[in-house]
Amino acid sequence: MKTVFQKIIDGDLPCDKIFENERIIAFKDIAPQAPVHILIVPKKAIQDISHATKEDALLLAEIMFVASALAKQFHIQDGFRLLTNNGADAGQSVFHLHFHLLGGKKLGALG
Ligand code: 5GP
Repeated sequence: MKTVFQKIIDGDLPCDKIFENERIIAFKDIAPQAPVHILIVPKKAIQDISHATKEDALLLAEIMFVASALAKQFHIQDGFRLLTNNGADAGQSVFHLHFHLLGGKKLGALG
């Protein structure tokens, strides 16, 4: 069964899209935890970061640079958090790799 992010990538589900190229899509989180809360998602179906391989190295690097560019675009370059939840115990709820870009407020400690 498709994950919600696969449905968004395939155009089956709408999203508030911010960025897209052949490999990556970024859109606003439906339940934002901060004034800026963007999800950056590789189109390749990788379950989570622990399922990424060396073949994905360039893709993962590109995601970092997309995150940095979006942080500038949304004026949070001086204070943002980029994180990925890996596995249910970490709070992962959508099992298609994604990175949360959070900012626009004072962010609390992790954990
Ligand atoms: P996770 O908990 O897996 O790290 O993050 C999943 C994120 O996806 C959550 O922050 C949740 O709010 C967001 N989300 C879940 N379903 C949808 C959806 O249909 N559209 C959008 N834009 N975000 C979603």
